[in-house]
Amino acid sequence: MNRLDGKTALISGASRGIGAAAARLMISVGANVIIGDVLKTKGEETAEILGPNAKFIHLDVTDENDWSNAVDLAVDQFGGLDILVNNAGLFLGRDFSDISVDDWNRLANVNMTGVWLGTKVATDALAKRGSESSQGSAIVNISSVAGLVGSELDPLYSMTKGGVTLFTKSTALNFGRKGHKIRVNSVHPGVIQTDMGEQTFVSRAQQHGTNDIKKSRDVALAGHPIGRLGVPEDIAKGIVFLASDDAGFMTGSSLVIDGGLTAR
Ligand code: NAP
Repeated sequence: MNRLDGKTALISGASRGIGAAAARLMISVGANVIIGDVLKTKGEETAEILGPNAKFIHLDVTDENDWSNAVDLAVDQFGGLDILVNNAGLFLGRDFSDISVDDWNRLANVNMTGVWLGTKVATDALAKRGSESSQGSAIVNISSVAGLVGSELDPLYSMTKGGVTLFTKSTALNFGRKGHKIRVNSVHPGVIQTDMGEQTFVSRAQQHGTNDIKKSRDVALAGHPIGRLGVPEDIAKGIVFLASDDAGFMTGSSLVIDGGLTAR
């Protein structure tokens, strides 16, 4: 179950955090992985640890040429591309009234333009491999719980992640219409213990005017009925499932992995 033998994945923002955990798990179930990230040293280190089935490439998701180079690397090194994980993302953690247009443009560029460009540039390679595979190729977009329900403290982050949620459904329909065998699904993590997860505690503490990071961590924990915060591996398992042939009848769907956060 959930095997990816012989498949090749390109994961954006995979030097660390959720993307790196997905790369690790994919390699362990038989895939080749291209790690694309703006963090060069960390990305090279992650690829080195994962061994010869992992390659690092500099990828700024807002740059169309970088995407072309990353897809070309997958084709040159491993013979094609079966899986795209649009994982790179930014979090600002400030009220919309405190964000400048420059900040918004940076957030929207990474969280939304990056997902669109990755999809656009990878489509031909994914369609080719999809046509040769019984269950098609796969795109997994990392949205958020904030892309499903409103976020009182981060309305702009929520706006970008809501965009990812509906772009996922729209591209699933669009590929179906074009006859491309590319399944597209989104993943919606709750609070996950990564650098970005830590950043949410700091920004929440600042937004509440307390600077009490432990308290904001406790509040986040209390919001997860399952009794713990998430770890990157929780999300990686969902990504691998959606990328695998076991999810062959899923497209345009939203997989919520949030410890019950949005069940209320
Ligand atoms: P993370 O630890 O901050 O890792 C994200 C990676 O993406 C970093 O290496 C980051 O590099 C990279 N990145 C940023 N901008 C990029 C760009 N323009 N091009 C390529 N790579 C770029 O974040 P994470 O927690 O693993 O989050 C991964 C995804 O899950 C994001 O889309 C995030 O919104 C989503 N998510 C996370 C949580 C959570 O609680 N952690 C919850 C819900 C959803 P830099 O360090 O240089 O920015």
